[in-house]
Amino acid sequence: MKYKSKNYLIENFKVNFLAEKFKTPLYCYSYKKIRDNIETFKKIFKSVNPIICFAVKANPNRKILNEIGNMGLGADVVSIGELMKAIKSGIRPNKIVFSGVGKTYDEIKYAIQKKILLINAESKSEIITIEKIAKNYKIKVNIGIRLNPNTDAKTIKQISTGKKENKFGVSEKIFLNLTNYVINSKYLNLKCLSVHIGSQILEIKPFEKMLKTLDKVINKTKFNFEYIDLGGGIGIDYENNNKNLDLKKYAIYIKKFLKGKKSKIIFEPGRSIVGNSGVLISKIIYIKEGYKKNFIILDAAMNDLMRPALYNARHRIIPAVKNNLKSNKVYEFVGPICESTDKFSTLSKFQKLNEKDLVVICDVGAYGMSLSSNYNLRPKVAEILIKNSKMHIMSKRQNLKDLI
Ligand SMILES: *Cc1c(COP(=O)(O)O)cnc(C)c1O
Repeated sequence: MKYKSKNYLIENFKVNFLAEKFKTPLYCYSYKKIRDNIETFKKIFKSVNPIICFAVKANPNRKILNEIGNMGLGADVVSIGELMKAIKSGIRPNKIVFSGVGKTYDEIKYAIQKKILLINAESKSEIITIEKIAKNYKIKVNIGIRLNPNTDAKTIKQISTGKKENKFGVSEKIFLNLTNYVINSKYLNLKCLSVHIGSQILEIKPFEKMLKTLDKVINKTKFNFEYIDLGGGIGIDYENNNKNLDLKKYAIYIKKFLKGKKSKIIFEPGRSIVGNSGVLISKIIYIKEGYKKNFIILDAAMNDLMRPALYNARHRIIPAVKNNLKSNKVYEFVGPICESTDKFSTLSKFQKLNEKDLVVICDVGAYGMSLSSNYNLRPKVAEILIKNSKMHIMSKRQNLKDLI
């Protein structure tokens, strides 16, 4: 994705061409970006030789899951819906792990029937439920236990998951108790210790601390875990300022951590695989002068892209066509929804804008479409993929009639 003279291109297609053809708002993804992200990830962690399970909640589109599956990745799912869709998209059950604090009886039963790689349990009650179902089927079920390592991920508060006040995982004390319980169960096979301390992590320190805690806890259990599932959480460069997480260092820490262990590492990356692969193309409906700033009213809104409203996330906004005319106004990019949090960004030093101009909201490939809703009875927008110089419709724009 880049400018070629004045025009912003997604692979070989001009944004204004795509907007004309498919209407706006429009999610557009680049296959090449996804492939590059996966290749880079594999290369950096080559020495660790991990199992990579894509976190489906980041982007559950069938086409994306299918392509990611073709590139050898498994899936991390957090509901029966995601599990069914991952399987339907061609991802083999023996490459799927199931996370989440509230898996229901039916969800667990389905996962057991499908013989997935691991159910990562997050409480004693859940483990007892899994055991009950396993007993009914007279089989031994592979499980992991998710530890809450009480590690500050130093990320946005709302997407931090590994501190003691968070609902995820179990405390060290309970982890040790449950380990004993599972080892002695006739119907459970303890296979994995799992953690996931949060998302959009850009510092290496939290991961280093997390590994230290894991080491300590594993020593106390004196158990040989076949798998250590380190979760996801790798941050991406939303600001475009090259402040990236030092993944090479992370790989080195993991190698060190693995010394003297026979465990296989599992990763559950979501954002780092698809985040920068997608953009949201939007058209300016109106420009309106406010008291102090100018409101750029887009046809995309918080129902299409929830992250800014949900946790103040910032996405870069750039013009689809550069006009090289500087504006000295302050622009606030907002959507048409009746909520004051329906705004994407406030920017000065943008180029001069006119009604009907197109803008590109960047890096929306993860937690963009997957968090979208029908709020204000707005239909879900279309998604397209550019692959090998061809356009593929990944999901159609929702029909207004169906909504009404
Ligand atoms: C959301 C989630 C992930 C993916 O996190 P990213 O920050 O997108 O990499 C991985 N594992 C679990 C358990 C999750 O809940």
